[in-house]
Amino acid sequence: MKPETAAIHAGQQIDPSTGAVTQPIYMSTTYERATDGEYPLGYIYGRDNNPNRKLIETRIAQLEHGAEAVAFASGSVVMMSIFQALSTGDHVIMPDDIYFGIRAIMNEFFVPWGLQVDFVDMTDLDSVRMALRHNTRLIVLETPSNPQLKVTDISAIVAIAKDTGAMVLCDNTLPTPILQTPLDLGCDLVVHATTKYIGGHSDVLGGIVVSKEDNDFYQRIRRIQQLGGAIPSPFDCWLLQRGLQTLPVRMRMIDENALKVAEFLESHAQVEQVLYPMLESHNDYAVAKKQMRGGGGLLSFLFKGDEAQTMQVVAKVKLFTRATSFGGTHSLIEHRASIESPDSKTPRNLIRMSIGLEHVDDLIADLEQALQD
Ligand SMILES: *Cc1c(COP(=O)(O)O)cnc(C)c1O
Repeated sequence: MKPETAAIHAGQQIDPSTGAVTQPIYMSTTYERATDGEYPLGYIYGRDNNPNRKLIETRIAQLEHGAEAVAFASGSVVMMSIFQALSTGDHVIMPDDIYFGIRAIMNEFFVPWGLQVDFVDMTDLDSVRMALRHNTRLIVLETPSNPQLKVTDISAIVAIAKDTGAMVLCDNTLPTPILQTPLDLGCDLVVHATTKYIGGHSDVLGGIVVSKEDNDFYQRIRRIQQLGGAIPSPFDCWLLQRGLQTLPVRMRMIDENALKVAEFLESHAQVEQVLYPMLESHNDYAVAKKQMRGGGGLLSFLFKGDEAQTMQVVAKVKLFTRATSFGGTHSLIEHRASIESPDSKTPRNLIRMSIGLEHVDDLIADLEQALQD
């Protein structure tokens, strides 16, 4: 099944009791047992499973070409649960520019609990090779990275990981399965903050991990979900299935808009550099071309000015909304360094944008007036 079709049909049947075309929202926390004490329909209790959750798990697993998926209440708690599924003494390699919240989870909670971690530049394959230890259990990738849009060569990392048998996890939130499918490139796990493009309308928090295989590690993550209950609500899942139906078409439009904005900015005299994977000027353009089907909707640029002048540009936009996050229909803009932790590596003159679904001419006109001095 092609992604456009799977995004609408995978995991869903017409409701047999009513003929409803759209899946009903199942609020029930508990399900009836048969006279013999069994659960013939498979549903027991809302923490263990729920039909709305099952639908998004099935659908996203299929879009990512994985065997199984486990949905959680946020992208962050997905990573927390994966770290919990590891064992004391395991070593993890993570990108030095990983999403700052995940870095904090690792440093503040899991290092004290006995995980070992190295943060490395994943685009420098030699430093990844050097960081590898006999007890390296997991290599985490986030590609393209945020907000610097660095692109990691997924297949090259998978080859390095084979030396110790480490699992490779790729956070695929930015490209989505429409523009990149890391399991096809040899990764073991794919993670999403479904809060972003999969939800797609800035109105639901969620996260999911897709496993290439039904194996022991996947089963441990499933146990953590079912025993702990950090799950998306039935309504959250319903919003996510609705978002998924238009994911392919939204990503195509967003991708087209973002490339045009990137090209406009690249030609602007006040812009020092544009960071967007599908620009030929991008450091990792060749790798991006090899493994991605589009650059996605996130792009950053460096303004020719100091921090205060950069803030001024962000203050002057009228159509873009000054807000964090990405993946919705509204285009967003933010001065990134000031929202990250003080040790962030983000340049002080970097402006990050999430390109939405407005007409690209209106977006470019807004940036043009904001960049004028
Ligand atoms: C947003 C985001 C997260 C965190 O997801 P939440 O749903 O906000 O917890 C993790 N990784 C990436 C790449 C993100 O963009």
